[in-house]
Amino acid sequence: MEDCVFCAIRKGEIPSTKVYEDKDFMIIKDINPQAKVHLLAIPTNHVPYLDIMTDDGAALLGKIILKISKMQEELGITDGYRLVVNQGDNAGQTVNHVHIHIMGGEKLKDI
Ligand SMILES: [Zn+2]
Repeated sequence: MEDCVFCAIRKGEIPSTKVYEDKDFMIIKDINPQAKVHLLAIPTNHVPYLDIMTDDGAALLGKIILKISKMQEELGITDGYRLVVNQGDNAGQTVNHVHIHIMGGEKLKDI
């Protein structure tokens, strides 16, 4: 989609540090890290919000979470990690393309 930062990153129009990429999603470093390791898992398809996601999109999110759990060592989160999806303005969703924050690499604050 036009004017979407994540779609532009996917196409290589905006630079990023990609940690992983396949046809379904990519993992990049967050440019404003909130933890020692702070990555973003971003599905390839542009879907702005969780609440308009299809069953296929939901299945993909499950696949991504499973993949993250199998990549803990590569991602530097073997001692535990937190996955967060911000939905909407009140939650601080800043890019309207569904994505999962991956945080770890240190002891995180309790929530
Ligand atoms: Zn997008």
